[in-house]
Amino acid sequence: MFAQVAIEQVPNMLFTYAIPEGMEVRVGQRVSVPWQRIYRLGYVIAVTETSPYQPKPKQQAVQGELFQSQASVAVKAIHEIDDELPYFSEAIIKLLRWLADYYSVGFTLALRSALPAPVRAGRVGDKAVFMVAPISPLPTGLPALSARQLNLYNEIVRIDGGKMVQVCKELGTTPATLRKLAKAGYITCEQMVVTRSPLKGKVILPSKPLQLTVGQTAALETILHADRPVLLFGVTGSGKTEVYMQAIAKTLEEGRDAIMLVPEISLTPQTVSRFAARFGKTVAVLHSALSDGERHDEWHRIRRGEARVVVGPRSAVFAPVRNLGLMIVDEEHDSGYKQDESPRYSARDVAVVRATMEKARCILGSATPSLESWRNAVTLGKYTLVKMTERAGGGRLPDVTVLDMHDAAPPGQPTPIFSPPLIDAMRNRLERGEQIILFLNRRGYAPTYQCDACKESVVCPKCNVKMTYHVKDDTLRCHLCGTWQRPPTRCPVCGLPVFNRLGFGTQRVETALHAILPQARIIRMDADSTSRRHSHDELLAAFRAKEADVLLGTQMIAKGLDFPNVTLVGILAADRSLDITYDFRAAERTFQLIAQVSGRAGRGTLPGEVVVQTFQPSHSAIRLAAKWEYEAFAAEELELRADADLPPFKKLACVTFAGKDMDEVAREARAAERKFKACRGLAVTPAMPAPLEKKEEWWRWQILLHGDSAKGIAAACDHVLPKEARITDTLRILVDIDAVFLA
Ligand code: ADP
Ligand code: ZN
Repeated sequence: MFAQVAIEQVPNMLFTYAIPEGMEVRVGQRVSVPWQRIYRLGYVIAVTETSPYQPKPKQQAVQGELFQSQASVAVKAIHEIDDELPYFSEAIIKLLRWLADYYSVGFTLALRSALPAPVRAGRVGDKAVFMVAPISPLPTGLPALSARQLNLYNEIVRIDGGKMVQVCKELGTTPATLRKLAKAGYITCEQMVVTRSPLKGKVILPSKPLQLTVGQTAALETILHADRPVLLFGVTGSGKTEVYMQAIAKTLEEGRDAIMLVPEISLTPQTVSRFAARFGKTVAVLHSALSDGERHDEWHRIRRGEARVVVGPRSAVFAPVRNLGLMIVDEEHDSGYKQDESPRYSARDVAVVRATMEKARCILGSATPSLESWRNAVTLGKYTLVKMTERAGGGRLPDVTVLDMHDAAPPGQPTPIFSPPLIDAMRNRLERGEQIILFLNRRGYAPTYQCDACKESVVCPKCNVKMTYHVKDDTLRCHLCGTWQRPPTRCPVCGLPVFNRLGFGTQRVETALHAILPQARIIRMDADSTSRRHSHDELLAAFRAKEADVLLGTQMIAKGLDFPNVTLVGILAADRSLDITYDFRAAERTFQLIAQVSGRAGRGTLPGEVVVQTFQPSHSAIRLAAKWEYEAFAAEELELRADADLPPFKKLACVTFAGKDMDEVAREARAAERKFKACRGLAVTPAMPAPLEKKEEWWRWQILLHGDSAKGIAAACDHVLPKEARITDTLRILVDIDAVFLA
């Protein structure tokens, strides 16, 4: 018998090993194998009767992978099984094969992405502690103890033992003394594995299922009986989460398990405790903010079947639940589901594929579905569409006012940060003791620092993008690579001392707001104010506890937050996200942002109001978002996409070439362009510098590929750019199928 083994550290190959007589190896198990004179851990991905390895003069490509063994004829044998319980089910291995083919990456790379870092080979182990327990009643015939030892024994009985460190501290003794007692047979001293749980120490009151509204009942009925994925299109506050939870409960009753994906940013303690309250210890949370130990333990709890409901961001799509019955993707439109490093998979799409493969139910939920999903549901009939148009709590969607900022100041005067109507609305909320959310799609104090005379800005010497001014430490920072410098006093280009800040970011808004409404207590939330591990949660908790009147922030506050006392949402510079010229999804993203942020208003019993400040009031993304007309927007935008042959009508891939030598990068990109043009059924954009031309001293060129199927594009990529040749000492080639970020 032979095993095909993937070794984590060797991304582009699979290896064949012989299974020794008497060893029983199962697919998915972690094994130790000899590899280049040392033992390495690998995962068994197939077991076969005969060796798939056929020594030939040239290596043979099978399924886009190289089969190779160390010896040219006789293959080496597996050394030992590392863990009896498999790490991957056959279903997951099948899913990963699909993923590797679809996204044109090596299988082992796909497999790595399915394992949280702390679970990978030997990174973190189980946490073991010594536990002390008294033996009571004592058997006869034990050696006699000294008076002091006897006293200690009685004390241990009184406190009923505990962790050794704890016992030592409490009773003022030492591990050596305790071990002597153990040796004498009076107590036990044993190493035990303890589970590190992200929920430990939190008091969570159990919650009961709510009485569903008419809309929720109909949605749940459809979900339970659908024969294909369900697109749950529910306005913000329509109670999608309650529907998810009742669908999960039903799935658990049927003896199957559930996974719910949420955008990383909305995986707040609020979400987690809502699930823990309903499902208790069967909930596992996989979250990058957990400690390595916690992530390790949660993952193994799922693998052992102790946790049957998994809540987590995109990588949780691979969670090793044993019997998947339900897969949920909340806020399915969120671009955070796209992995930003290789393999660049979309967790939403992988979720649909996994659910289909494992015959599980699948829900994609959103108030602003992606145009891909919308078309799959409405035009292609691949998904069942369910709408929830009313808010569950009975409240109305807030009224949205769009303010044209051209009118915010008299002609010739600079545009203020706040328009007069927004200031009035804020003042009014402060008087009534209600809360306000202010949203700005930009952190920092001012986006750029510009010379009044020659209009030059300071750009990052490494990345060639404009640097952002941060008032707190008086620095200019590059938001791509983090490089910083002091703002110059004179323009580096023309030498005149008229350098000025331009535009505004969250810090400047905070200062301006403080000047206008000094009584307002403000919490600012952006990547700068939340770099500490828990500060995101702490800031939200403080706002919930009404310790502040205004929550001011970036994308971070756009999603999922449910604050009943917020009755006003102000969106500053709503068109800013429209200005990203290279992103064909700019309008879609702007619509989503406005609708999502607006959805934070009026979620309690108090009615909500939204004020949108913009220079482009008639743009359809802004106009229709203000009227909550998703369907009209989708229809309009889909027509534009169809005319331009863009997704979701065509598949799009982005191939990026990066290297330190600009000429080499350009040469390689142009050579690949010629080869792609020879492939049939592919539209190829000319090789050109990426919008982000230079990043951390790497020059970047790009080719976009448009085709009818991802399969066709991936095949062309495999042909033009063989996987094992994509990374050399001087060049990195990155293939991104269904590209979302085109920078
Ligand atoms: P969504 O995820 O669709 O934006 P949520 O699930 O957060 O909406 O629900 C919005 C609010 O409505 C929450 O405060 C929730 O507790 C409440 N809610 C949901 N379902 C019901 C129901 N059936 N009855 C009463 N309140 C509900
Ligand atoms: Zn930079």
